[in-house]
Amino acid sequence: MTVLVPTSLDEALFALADLPDALVLAGGTDAMVEVNMGNRKPVDVVSVNRVSELRSWTYDPVAATVHIGAAVTYSELMQPPLAELLPALAEAARTVGSPQIRNAGTLGGNLGTCSPAGDGLPVLSALDAVVHLASTRGERSLPVGEFMVGVKRTARERDELITGVTVGVLDGWQGYSKVGVRNAMVIALATACVAVDTPGRSVRVAIGSVGPTILRCNEAELFAAAEVDFDGRAASTATVTRFGELAAAHSRPIDDHRSSADYRRHAIGVLSSRLLRRAFPHE
Ligand SMILES: Cc1cc2nc3c(=O)[nH]c(=O)nc-3n(C[C@H](O)[C@H](O)[C@H](O)COP(=O)(O)OP(=O)(O)OC[C@H]3O[C@@H](n4cnc5c(N)ncnc54)[C@H](O)[C@@H]3O)c2cc1C
Repeated sequence: MTVLVPTSLDEALFALADLPDALVLAGGTDAMVEVNMGNRKPVDVVSVNRVSELRSWTYDPVAATVHIGAAVTYSELMQPPLAELLPALAEAARTVGSPQIRNAGTLGGNLGTCSPAGDGLPVLSALDAVVHLASTRGERSLPVGEFMVGVKRTARERDELITGVTVGVLDGWQGYSKVGVRNAMVIALATACVAVDTPGRSVRVAIGSVGPTILRCNEAELFAAAEVDFDGRAASTATVTRFGELAAAHSRPIDDHRSSADYRRHAIGVLSSRLLRRAFPHE
């Protein structure tokens, strides 16, 4: 077994070009579980969490975007000033696992695994994030909705690294919420992110754990944009209730050992309504 620990992006890309079947290892909080359970038997490993280009984030105030390197951890997402620029992502990061998992686990790893229950993913979806991929063949960028193609399936090619994401900084309220069987160390049964773009007059809602991948609820979004008072931050009770119903109707949950589909659908309605009420606290 070859284990490579590159410290620059170029080194990492050449390593992966040489070993395209290698396991890419960031924090290892998903990958090592798979190895320990015997679901993955890596021949080679390319570790990416010492690649400096992947470890940092930058804010471009002119474009109003943040670029987050793939190996930025949840603990880092929770710290200001990044947490102030992307509060829903910080809120989602705070709900992940335990302090140990948040110190090791990365946003790139959440994307790499692409679980429908990944906590970072509904936020990236609601914020219209763009995922950046690189290999020795070149670079490409995809909307996160095209990157996530199914349950634990992504558009990443074998020799590509996720280098980071670019996320817009919105002027408007945003928040994230989830339901699980307890408060910590649990796989979410239903998740939702609502993000408001006040100048753009849009309300985005993305839901997780209720479909093969993260879903954007277009009907609920258009309904809310037509009904809420953006400047007064107001929405009627009927609007808040209907928004939850439309989001729930858009979900595609399954029955499994963790929950029934009915409960998951109901939870999406409650989470979405509550998030819209937090976004528009006035009647
Ligand atoms: C106890 C426990 C609790 C957890 N709780 C939560 C939770 O509450 N919410 C949640 O969302 N997740 C949770 N997880 C899952 C995990 O922590 C997250 O998905 C985390 O984001 C994975 O990041 P990582 O850096 O550890 O990825 P790794 O395990 O290193 O990698 C995950 C996958 O992504 C690939 N990968 C990683 N980085 C790259 C890259 N730059 N380019 C290409 N591919 C890459 C790997 O090859 C692998 O397939 C938990 C895990 C454990 C063990």
